Amino acid sequence: MNRVLILGVPVDAISEAGAVEWVADAIRAGQPRQVATVNPEFIMRARHDGRFLNVLSAADLCIPDGYGVVWAARRLGHRLPSRVAGVDLIRSLAARGAREGWRFFFLGAGPGVAESAAAALEKGNPGLVVAGCLAGSPDPAQDTVTAAAVRSARTDLLLVAYGAPGQDLWIARNLHQSGARVAIGVGGAFDFISGGARRAPRWMRERGLEWLHRLVQEPWRWRRMLALPRFALAVLRQAR
Ligand code: UDP
Repeated sequence: MNRVLILGVPVDAISEAGAVEWVADAIRAGQPRQVATVNPEFIMRARHDGRFLNVLSAADLCIPDGYGVVWAARRLGHRLPSRVAGVDLIRSLAARGAREGWRFFFLGAGPGVAESAAAALEKGNPGLVVAGCLAGSPDPAQDTVTAAAVRSARTDLLLVAYGAPGQDLWIARNLHQSGARVAIGVGGAFDFISGGARRAPRWMRERGLEWLHRLVQEPWRWRRMLALPRFALAVLRQAR
């Protein structure tokens, strides 16, 4: 698999189907693995957050989550097969995991959201094994208790929804103690899967306008989203 660097952050040239296979292989192999879903906000954050950059650089798989990442790779002379949206990846993993008998643990998001997301996936994928659900907290003071809960659930696939960088730092600190085979930082995915937040319509997703939909639904994000034009400028500058 090809790994490209975008403004110093690694991104793997992998498709959604490839990522599902990768996770299946990793679960079979049983070595703990960390997966990050890298989008332009991650990359901009990592430029001035050395801890986050180190965690992303050490992650076993960095999925290209966002058109911005695919666009940037192209401008920098690399090719990524396609964007892999975190929410779509989770749905595909749920389908595969239900067949394989993987034990899923849903960690993070607001009170009750992990449970609702798990229930929605269970409904669409009969046989899905929900080993545990917990809102928990990304605060390191809670790590021991939370990692013990994941461990006692005998988790194969751990989905961590604390947003970046908290979720990715959490996984880097706790993957081994948690006993999970694969852990993925999934951002706000539980909010979408549970139905608490609405995804952009397909036509917007296909045109790379998911960010605009999100901004309209959650206008408080505007400051964070300034990262997007800054990202585009930085990529164009580097491409020159
Ligand atoms: N979250 C949480 N605890 C925290 C901070 C965030 O559980 O201390 C959850 C929040 O409820 C949301 C997710 O983390 O479900 C992050 O969502 P966001 O949309 O900000 O992440 P993104 O997809 O932009 O990375």
